[in-house]
Amino acid sequence: MPRLRTLGNRVAMAPSRQPAPQRSSDRRMTGRALQERRLRIWSRDPHCAACGRLVAMHEFELDHIVALTNGGADMDENCQVLCIVEPDACHRRKTQADLGRST
Ligand SMILES: [Zn+2]
Repeated sequence: MPRLRTLGNRVAMAPSRQPAPQRSSDRRMTGRALQERRLRIWSRDPHCAACGRLVAMHEFELDHIVALTNGGADMDENCQVLCIVEPDACHRRKTQADLGRST
C-alpha cells in the first residue's frame, strides 16, 4: 500500500510552527484589559499556583500556563497567579523554564 506509507511520512514530518522564543515580541495584553484580567483571575484564587502562597494584588504577576511563545492561548483559562515575592519568585522561575533555561 504505497499510499499509506506516504501519509505516514507526512504525519511524522508535521512541522512545529513556533518561532524561537523572543520575550519582547510576545503579543500580550496591556493596560486596562490586563489589569482587569489580573483582578478577575486573582479574585478567583488569590494563591500562587506554584507555591500556594496567599498573595496581595502587588505580589503576583499573571502567568500563561502554556507560555505564548510555546503556543499557549492568550485567554483567562490559560492564566494563573504566580508570586513575584522573593525568595520563591515563582513567576520569574517559570518564565526561565518556559524559555528553556534552568535556574
Ligand atoms: Zn509562588
